[in-house]
Amino acid sequence: MAKSTKNRVGKVGRRGIVAPKSSSAAPVVSPPVPRPSSRSLVLVVSGPGGAGKTTLCEKLSAMSGGRLALSISCTTRAPRGSEVDGRHYFFVSREEFERGIAAGNFAEHAEVAGNYYGTPRPFIEQQLAAGHDVLLDIDVQGGDSVRRMYGARVVSVFVLPPSRRILEERLRGRGTDSAERVRARMELAEREIVRAGDYDYLVINGRQEEAIAEIDAIRRAEHARLTREGSGAAWALKTWS
Ligand code: 5GP
Repeated sequence: MAKSTKNRVGKVGRRGIVAPKSSSAAPVVSPPVPRPSSRSLVLVVSGPGGAGKTTLCEKLSAMSGGRLALSISCTTRAPRGSEVDGRHYFFVSREEFERGIAAGNFAEHAEVAGNYYGTPRPFIEQQLAAGHDVLLDIDVQGGDSVRRMYGARVVSVFVLPPSRRILEERLRGRGTDSAERVRARMELAEREIVRAGDYDYLVINGRQEEAIAEIDAIRRAEHARLTREGSGAAWALKTWS
C-alpha cells in the first residue's frame, strides 16, 4: 500500500475526536435546555449507483455555507476516473479498514459489491456538536445503521433516476467498468430500489437543479417541523418567551 494511505483510518479517527464531557463542568442552575447540537440533522441520501447522489450531495453541501457538512467515507475500492483521495473518498486497504472497525472509528460500515465502505464517526460527532447538519451519501445498509445510531436526528432521502431505462443507460455510460461489473451494479441497484419505501422522502433526479432544491427544501422543512423530537422548531417553541 502506498505510503500516503498509511494509517489513513487512524488519521480520520483523529480528526475531531469529541472529548468526553468533563465532570468538572459548571453546575447546572436552571433546567437544561437542549444544546444547539440537538437541533442538527443527519441527512441520509441513498439510492442506486447511477442516481446521481454524489453530485447532488457535493452541490448541496457547497451551497450551504458550511451548515451542511458532507461526510467523506473510507472505502477499500480503487479510485475511479478522476476521483481524488481525501475529497471523494479516503481510499484505504482492507487491513487499514479492518483496523478502523476494531478501533470503533466508523459510525457505520457496510460491504457493497465486495468492497468496504464506512462513515468516519469523529467527523459526524464533531459537526453535530458544532450545530451543523451532516450529509451522508451511503447505501441502504448504512442508512439502517445510522437510523439506529442517531434516531430522531436522521432524515432520510431516497434518490431515483427518472426511469429504469435511464438508470441502465447511466450505469453503462460510465464506461469505467466491465460488462460483468455493470451487470452486478444493476442487480445491486434493484436490491437498493426495493428499500425506497423505508425512507422519509423520495426525490427523482431528472433535472439536477430541481432535485437539489427539493432536498434543500426537505432539510429546511425538517428544521421547521414541530413533530420531530429535537427539531429547531420544537426547540424554539419550548424556549420561546
Ligand atoms: P461507489 O463505489 O459507486 O462510489 O459507491 C457504492 C455505494 O456505496 C453507493 O450506494 C454509495 O452511496 C455507498 N457508500 C458510499 N460511502 C458509503 C459509506 O460510508 N457507508 C455505506 N454504508 N455506503 C457507502
